[in-house]
Amino acid sequence: MDYKIVVGLEVHVQLLTQTKLFTACTTEFNPDAPNTQTQPLCISLPGTLPVLNRHAYELAVKAALGLNCSIATFTKWDRKQYFYPDLPKGYQISQYDMPMSYDGWLEVDDAEGHKKKIRILRAHLEEDAGKNIHDESGRGEDSKVDLNRAGTPLLEIVSEPDISSAAEARQYLDELRLIMQYLGVSDCNMQEGSLRCDANVNLHILEADGHHVPTPIVEVKNLNSFRNVEAAIEYEVERQLEEYELTGRKWGDPGVMKETRGFDAHRGTTFAQRGKEEAADYRYFPDPDLAPVTMTEEEIDAIRQTMCELPADRRERMKTAYELSDYDCDVIINHSPQLSDYFEETAQVSEDGKQAANWVTQDILRELNERELTIDDFPIRPPVLGTMLKKIVDGDLTVKSGREVFAVLLEQGLEGQELSPADVDQIIEDKGLAVVKDTGAIEATIQEVLARKQNAKSIDDLKGGKQQAAGPLIGQVMKEVKGADAKMVREMIIDMVQNS
Ligand code: MN
Repeated sequence: MDYKIVVGLEVHVQLLTQTKLFTACTTEFNPDAPNTQTQPLCISLPGTLPVLNRHAYELAVKAALGLNCSIATFTKWDRKQYFYPDLPKGYQISQYDMPMSYDGWLEVDDAEGHKKKIRILRAHLEEDAGKNIHDESGRGEDSKVDLNRAGTPLLEIVSEPDISSAAEARQYLDELRLIMQYLGVSDCNMQEGSLRCDANVNLHILEADGHHVPTPIVEVKNLNSFRNVEAAIEYEVERQLEEYELTGRKWGDPGVMKETRGFDAHRGTTFAQRGKEEAADYRYFPDPDLAPVTMTEEEIDAIRQTMCELPADRRERMKTAYELSDYDCDVIINHSPQLSDYFEETAQVSEDGKQAANWVTQDILRELNERELTIDDFPIRPPVLGTMLKKIVDGDLTVKSGREVFAVLLEQGLEGQELSPADVDQIIEDKGLAVVKDTGAIEATIQEVLARKQNAKSIDDLKGGKQQAAGPLIGQVMKEVKGADAKMVREMIIDMVQNS
């Protein structure tokens, strides 16, 4: 069967505020001390009233601008009513028909490698609920409710159904997360629940008469990793194809409603949960406790001025400015804004982007992984690494010796020593690693080595055209002239043997 995959994503991103959306209660992630971050408003005590957190609103505007959204100059708050133990008020404060931002987009690469815009319908601000903790031990203990998270500011970002594959969904999420992280509006930490994703999936099946028939739309809820989003979409494609072949049920048939499904990460399957509520089921109405928010164009512009370069722009600029391969550039940009800053500062000192990229993507990332360090905690800072790399670029240090210097710097740094560019020179001097450019000294040593009886055979072989015979001779010279450049020694030996 010929078909198209149609996916829209709803992403909830937790904004990086110190306090909650409508009260000055801390938003710290603290699952070990449930219900300790619960001011009267969070647990909905009678008589409490919400007051908007201005910083949360500004972060939401910044995030929406990063997603190329238009910002509403007038917006309001609505109550979304539903009954659930983790929602003590019985309603969530959200935005219904007048979201604070709308009509955005972000770009992914389609299957042919072309840029494709995924449109964003809207992004609105709302408060988070608490968390129900169900007993999974099988001992039948009670379920519990932790309200630490209740009232935390979330930005809900709703895409249009423009995503046509699991791979595009993954890219959309990767890029969305990067934009949030570069802008500093969210850490998007999925383990801590700061980014959650629901996927709306259906198929448009091509019938013999040339018409596309839509299968019933399914919303897969609470996907807590990007891998799970991909797996859920892949599973739904297969499941919906099978169901369509079996039943012929399609979207728009009487009685066909949007279905909410969960995802079983162990089995890689989705399972039916409930019929989806329609907007009317939530009995939305404007929250009478909160005033609408108005924003002038000047205020929106002022926030725009505080935005940094977005990852897609930075990717293009860095590629050109430092002559990076697509691969190296992606590794750096996609890692974090901090690593991108580290790379750029290093490359500016070393005056060679390729060299800096090699070290950052290989040596630095390996050390960070093995030592479980973040780049901000890494003791060799860009001025020091850049100084060392500059010596390699200038031919004053071999790459091999560079690794030795790097190891010593790292050891000293991890011991708590404050490193400076002068330490690079000191280590090179202490270890005698400077490249010897004095060809006179090298020439004298080569003559000495060539005169050794033991080397007669190697010299004959070399004269006979056996290039590898130079190996042992180079080794002997390098042993005596520490820091000599092996390539130069090889050339000099071949030259001297041939001219003898
Ligand atoms: Mn929501």
